[in-house]
Parts: sequence; structure tokens; C-alpha cells
Amino acid sequence: MEQAYGGAVIIDNKLMNTGTLPGAEFGHMVIQKDGIQCNCGKRGCFEKYGSMKAFKDNLRKALGYDEKTRGQELFDIIRKNKNTPENKNYDLIENIVQEYVNNLAIGISNLINIFEPQAICIGGSFVYFEEVLLNRLKQELLKPNMLFNMRDNIIIETAILGNDAGIIGAVCHEEAF
Ligand SMILES: [Zn+2]
Repeated sequence: MEQAYGGAVIIDNKLMNTGTLPGAEFGHMVIQKDGIQCNCGKRGCFEKYGSMKAFKDNLRKALGYDEKTRGQELFDIIRKNKNTPENKNYDLIENIVQEYVNNLAIGISNLINIFEPQAICIGGSFVYFEEVLLNRLKQELLKPNMLFNMRDNIIIETAILGNDAGIIGAVCHEEAF
């Protein structure tokens, strides 16, 4: 199935009109010059770093799991990853999670700098990993120099938009929910 990684911008309760083209292709915003090849033809696109597919693929690869390993299993692995002497994979898993959160924050910070939205909505399978990712993402976004205009807090809503829906649901503005 073709996966969609697009986004949407809602301003004053209206979807931003991009004419006859879909627009809001946040997934193809370059966040890494000469980075990973994307199927759109460019390199270093946000979706190659910030999508849940990229995150889960990286985890599976690092742990030597095949691609059939389910999201639930990966979620449990992250949730139970504690820094104990018995856990040899702690750093490996922790680094992948941190790298993912950092990349996701870079892409989202670009969007926040442009739109200064009231809230960000993230859909797709991120929702199922909310417990292990959401707070870390917020913390990352609130670090000094991440956003052009510093904020005290950032509202990130998660929404199930249907199976395999896009990574970044929408950049919302004013009563958009
Ligand atoms: Zn691309």
C-alpha cells in the first residue's frame, strides 16, 4: 500500500488552499543535505528520518529483527529499556530513540518557525508510541536554539487518522480541532 506522509495546514478553521496540487508535503522538506536517498528523487527528506517507518526500520535493523516484527513488540522494547547491568542493548536502543526524536524535532521546529501554530497534530503510528516519544519530543523542541521564538510550552496533539496515515497530521491554528 502506498503510504502518505503529507501534512495539512489549518488556519482559522480552514484547510490551507494549495490549489490543484496537494501541498504541505512536509515529508519532503530536506533536513539533511546529501542525506538518505528518498523516492521523490531528492536526498535527506524529513520522512527518511522523521517517519515512524524510518524509526521502526532503524530499530529492527539495530536489534537484528526482521521486518515482520510488530510495532507493539518494538514499543514494549522501548518501554522496558532500562539502564541495568543485564540490559546489553540499553545504549543501542536509547541512541536510536534519541536520534529519532532529534530528527523529528528538527523537522517540526522548521514548521513551527514558519507557522507559529497554536498546536501541532501528529497522526499515524506515532500515536501508538506516544507514551515513549511524546514527552521527549516536547522536551527536544523546548531546548534552547531549537525554535526561533522560544516558548514555555508546546501543544502536540496525537490523532489516529486511519491505518498508515501520514506522520505529521497537521499544523493547526486557532480552534482547529
Ligand atoms: Zn522526498
